[in-house]
Amino acid sequence: MSIPAASSLTDQAGTPGTVLSGAGVVPGIGYAPALRPGERPALPADGVADVPADLREDEASRFSLAAAAVAGRLRERASQATGAASEVLAATAGLASDKAWLKAADKRIRSGMPAGNAAAAATEQFADMFTKLGGLMAERVTDLRDVRDRVLAELAGRPEPGVPQPDHPVVLLADDLAPADTAGLDPALILGIATRLGGPTSHTAIIARQLGIPCVVAVSDLGGVPAGVPVLIDGAAGTVTVEPDPEAAAQRAEEAATAAAAVADWHGPGRTADGRAVAVLANVQDGASAHAAAERPVEGIGLFRTELAFLDRTDEPSVAEQTDMYRAVIDAFPGQKVVIRTLDAGSDKPLKFVDHPDEANPALGVRGVRIAQGDPEILTRQLDAIAAAGATSDPWVMAPMIATAGEAHDFAALCRERGLTPGVMIEVPAAALLADAVLAEVDFVSIGTNDLTQYAMAADRMSSELASLTDPWQPAVLRLIKLVGDAGTRAGKPVGVCGEAAADPLLACVLVGLGVTSLSCAPNAAAAVGARLSGVTLAQCRAAADAVLTTADPRSARAAAEAALQSAV
Ligand code: PEP
Ligand code: MG
Repeated sequence: MSIPAASSLTDQAGTPGTVLSGAGVVPGIGYAPALRPGERPALPADGVADVPADLREDEASRFSLAAAAVAGRLRERASQATGAASEVLAATAGLASDKAWLKAADKRIRSGMPAGNAAAAATEQFADMFTKLGGLMAERVTDLRDVRDRVLAELAGRPEPGVPQPDHPVVLLADDLAPADTAGLDPALILGIATRLGGPTSHTAIIARQLGIPCVVAVSDLGGVPAGVPVLIDGAAGTVTVEPDPEAAAQRAEEAATAAAAVADWHGPGRTADGRAVAVLANVQDGASAHAAAERPVEGIGLFRTELAFLDRTDEPSVAEQTDMYRAVIDAFPGQKVVIRTLDAGSDKPLKFVDHPDEANPALGVRGVRIAQGDPEILTRQLDAIAAAGATSDPWVMAPMIATAGEAHDFAALCRERGLTPGVMIEVPAAALLADAVLAEVDFVSIGTNDLTQYAMAADRMSSELASLTDPWQPAVLRLIKLVGDAGTRAGKPVGVCGEAAADPLLACVLVGLGVTSLSCAPNAAAAVGARLSGVTLAQCRAAADAVLTTADPRSARAAAEAALQSAV
């Protein structure tokens, strides 16, 4: 008897304690035995005999009835689901009743191909096309093949393939999950998901995010993990640990559950355990996102990226149009803080109506407030619109990419002439180094850690190869933030952070210890930040800040912060 040889990859992936890496898409911990979806139907063999001419009509209707049955069932499930799950099921039902796909299969059947082979061939024809188109279309290939498998099962009179309903908690491991599989998942029983394929925008990721199930995608070695073994999924770290130490894993799962409950219970306002107020604010890009943010436990808006509201415009919006746009955002938070940033056009966010020069290095070029050098009125028209929109609400206004105290002075003068409260972003190391002089000119500053990190580390924020350099935990970046925090304390003026660093709950505590007085982040990250902050004292935050400043790399900085926050001060 011959036993198929297991690949070395399989051996390694199945070894207790092995940690497999992928891309984490939904943070959280899931620890349970692995479940693998049921077998998909085998694809029909090639080279089968033609269907006799007089039976082709029947074969064609057998196929169209099977496709209609699959589409109908998916549509029925869509009507029972809500939100993204419903949209995903409806989209898959749409594929099962897609005219072009049905026609491609029908044509083959009428030339003699059996229905199953025709469904498979038509699917591959469209899969090739989607793959060539790339991006989101390429990710729909899984959906199309799922429809094919359901139709094949229907043609064979077998139950639809997919994820079986478990009777105990599991983590789901799969090559890839079809939308119709993920859309019906019960988060009480599916504690985690890992897939070998898929990306951050795949349906698996979208649904897992909606259901709040910890999820890691693109785990290349996942195939070797057998069903039934205990697996720990860490959606923040993007790892899958096969047969971890049971006690340690159970403890991590319990801690994660406690932390998740604290996040769900947190409703603000932002403050440390000993009562130091630290406003937790939202980053938004237009009226719609501001109104959505108002549903979250945030105390206002810390960054309105106005350029994002105008990315599709070929002509500059008039002052009246801009006024309406800004008013829509201000109205989402009546009586609360709203910080509006003037256009940060250029570099990765060029605007069609701004005359951007052709530059070899646009990140170091005419971007942010610098666009006003060649066209001062683009800035003054925007300030006029903000002043009109905020006539009764005192929005704060800040300029991006300020490098000198002189630029801060000029910007502040334009704001004050219009009765607006002026501030600037600190995202250029030069401005951090001279924070006292900059703060002397304005009423507040907000640190843009995304660009501050890019410029401090000389590493393009868009480069995935340089991700370890563009990490805001880099101690050099933390030292620059400390300079700004100290300057803010001396001047008695607010120092916010509105870059991605503010969305990291651990780093948020360090930032508060460094002198930061408000945190602005993506609205869905706010509760985790607020909850973490509510569990630590200002003295612990300061101890964490002191600790990170003695480190020389991000990993040690994180460890030092975690240790400092866990010790009583
Ligand atoms: C930043 O640089 O941190 C920031 C908030 O600005 P943006 O990400 O829009 O460049
Ligand atoms: Mg920036």
